Amino acid sequence: MDIQLSERLQKLPPYLFAALRKKIADKRAQGVKVINLGIGDPDYPTPDPIIAEMFRALRDENDPNRHRYGCDAPVEAFAEAVQNFYFRRYGVKLNNDQVVTTFGSKDAIVKLCLGILNPGDIGIAPVPGYPTYNIGHVFSMAATCEVPLLKENKFLLDFDAIPKDALQKAKLLWLNYPNNPTTAVADLDFFKRAVEFASKHNLLIAHDSAYSENTYDGYTAPSILQVDGAAEVAVEFFSLSKAFNMTGWRLGCLVGNASAVNALRLVKNNIDNGSLRALQFAGAKALNLAEEIFPKVNAVYQRRRDMVCEALHGAGWPVEKPKGTIYIWAPVPAKYCGSSGAFAEDLLEKAGVVVTPGAGYSKWGEGYYRISLTYPDAVLTEALSRIREMGQ
Ligand SMILES: *Cc1c(COP(=O)(O)O)cnc(C)c1O
Repeated sequence: MDIQLSERLQKLPPYLFAALRKKIADKRAQGVKVINLGIGDPDYPTPDPIIAEMFRALRDENDPNRHRYGCDAPVEAFAEAVQNFYFRRYGVKLNNDQVVTTFGSKDAIVKLCLGILNPGDIGIAPVPGYPTYNIGHVFSMAATCEVPLLKENKFLLDFDAIPKDALQKAKLLWLNYPNNPTTAVADLDFFKRAVEFASKHNLLIAHDSAYSENTYDGYTAPSILQVDGAAEVAVEFFSLSKAFNMTGWRLGCLVGNASAVNALRLVKNNIDNGSLRALQFAGAKALNLAEEIFPKVNAVYQRRRDMVCEALHGAGWPVEKPKGTIYIWAPVPAKYCGSSGAFAEDLLEKAGVVVTPGAGYSKWGEGYYRISLTYPDAVLTEALSRIREMGQ
């Protein structure tokens, strides 16, 4: 018997990079040493003290609950570490009902949608952007209103560009700064406008803060919760993935508006039963050591950022250095007439290097390509020397 995919699954957009994946496989089959700079997944291992804490908690015979469901035996230490971190880092005070532990943001983004959207509702998603916001809408039988992020607005959402009819029906507005893929950053003033806008139009803002700690040149990213009254209309997804090299661990939190936090908690209680206790102890350790760990993590990306930007400059393809994220978002070289697909294919063909074409992130990403900084220096150096040769 062939099982039919659900309507939800059938409605998902095709995996963006399926065609590229096939071309990479073909190249490799021809014996080309392809270097893939497409994926944003930290190469450096999780810092030792976090791993040590995980082992300690797993083996802690004084904790009779250590093997049990996280939701029935919650780890206060993690919620407390989140609260302390938000206070130290942002001066934001979070009550106990304003924090819920997540399996990382991707999972929680979809689950929050399931907790607050009804069929026919609308969520507003800026594009180019992280595809999971739309996936959360599709799984909830809700619709997505895409609003473009434009270079002339520094890739900040233009609230006036949201169509009025969609706005009336919309329940949810996604933001993400520092932004993947555009690398744009937002200041507190932008978040103030966002909070005002959401209050006026009865929207929940969900700010995806995946890269809040991956910042450079002394820049630090604000939290939307620093805005007075933000917790009335906003939640923030914080994740340990990119900040602490912990993508595979699946740990983060949703903080802010208590009723939205509660909606996610209810979905989680009914689907996943919470995170392993040892994982939460390790996460608490990470957050408590944040000030020690971030400079080390970020020094690596800042060095690679400079390497990549300087090499692209040398190839005649200049790009501004981003203040945040683990990516370079660069305009497609002029001779490709703005076609990111044509550029990516040529780069693979002639240099054996894979970058992510911006068009994969909607037509509003066209004209750009993304390079991830999560590859060892030696790999990046090799890729950059091939790119430089091709550029000249
Ligand atoms: C990587 C990424 C995430 C996913 O993070 P997890 O916490 O590992 O699920 C969420 N949002 C954006 C924009 C990302 O780039």
